[in-house]
Amino acid sequence: MSEKLSLVTCTSCGKPIPPGSESTKFLCPNCGEIQIKRDGKCRKFGRLYKCPNCGFQGP
Ligand SMILES: [Zn+2]
Ligand SMILES: [Zn+2]
Repeated sequence: MSEKLSLVTCTSCGKPIPPGSESTKFLCPNCGEIQIKRDGKCRKFGRLYKCPNCGFQGP
């Protein structure tokens, strides 16, 4: 039931990304099926993200 949240969460830290923040999103460079989303903080600090589909980890 909570699977389809409309709120975007950061793939790195799992926190909700407020609309209008300096977030970025891109497709997973490995499988290209999952959209990775990162908030401004995680982008700035270069935190790792992990693709929930293929397990790829990247900066
Ligand atoms: Zn984050
Ligand atoms: Zn992937």
